[in-house]
Amino acid sequence: MVLLNLKNVSFRYDANWVLRDLSCDVAQGEFLGIIGPNGSGKTTLLRICSGILVPGRGMVALEGRDIRNIPRKALARTMAFVAQDSPELFHFKVNECVLMGRAPHLGRLQFEKERDFAITRQAMEATGTLLLASRNLADLSGGEKKRVHIARALAQEPEILFLDESTAYLDMKHATAIFDLLKALNRDQGLTVIIVTHDINTAALYCDRLLMMHQGSIFAEGRPEEIITEANIREVYETRVTIDRNPENGLPRISLLPQSLSDPRKPVK
Ligand code: ADP
Repeated sequence: MVLLNLKNVSFRYDANWVLRDLSCDVAQGEFLGIIGPNGSGKTTLLRICSGILVPGRGMVALEGRDIRNIPRKALARTMAFVAQDSPELFHFKVNECVLMGRAPHLGRLQFEKERDFAITRQAMEATGTLLLASRNLADLSGGEKKRVHIARALAQEPEILFLDESTAYLDMKHATAIFDLLKALNRDQGLTVIIVTHDINTAALYCDRLLMMHQGSIFAEGRPEEIITEANIREVYETRVTIDRNPENGLPRISLLPQSLSDPRKPVK
């Protein structure tokens, strides 16, 4: 079933259009990755999909309904957004921060009900943050903070979770833990996950489908093994790479080539 539908969406912050006539569908239960070079429009697209930004032209529909006609409170019950640089909420403890995810449901300062505490606890269990409950957010590591922000988003009980560069600044172990968590939520709870990431290799492992953005348009769209090709990467990222394929599942794995070595016209001296 199509959950989100973008129809001929264009968007500009000022004079220049940064998204151009973009159309796509997101199915319920999908794990979608948005990739592409810096400035190609990934974050803008994620914000458009989640209703944070309104397209200048075209339409975004949630289950067939124009999201401009869905009240913000109702939208917050469906979609939760974890930003690249989430507000630090320094003065709060972890459990208070996660409980704030319940605020869109009931209005501020009215969320301390049994059910809210129970859902907050579940979100913390799912993200492995229960042990951090009484710690100050300010004292946590980057990976721990990220998990708390995901817990706060889950406390909204969304159908769609949007994450912008959710593993930026994390080391391999913590980045993998975040992806594992997202995959488990996607697989076990049917949560639709839409992420923006620079980590193409990891995206290939976890995402069902990728959108490759280039200059404000969708350059390629499909299963990771279909769109992660040397030709696409060269065109979109202006970078030469080699791609190995896992013989068992065909999944691609990119290796960067130093550009001076990869260009036969520039022999290494
Ligand atoms: P990406 O996430 O792929 O790096 P963005 O969606 O952040 O790309 O940005 C797409 C384009 O929009 C870039 O040219 C960027 O400079 C521009 N842009 C992003 N945010 C703003 C803003 N708030 N005001 C004006 N231009 C912006």
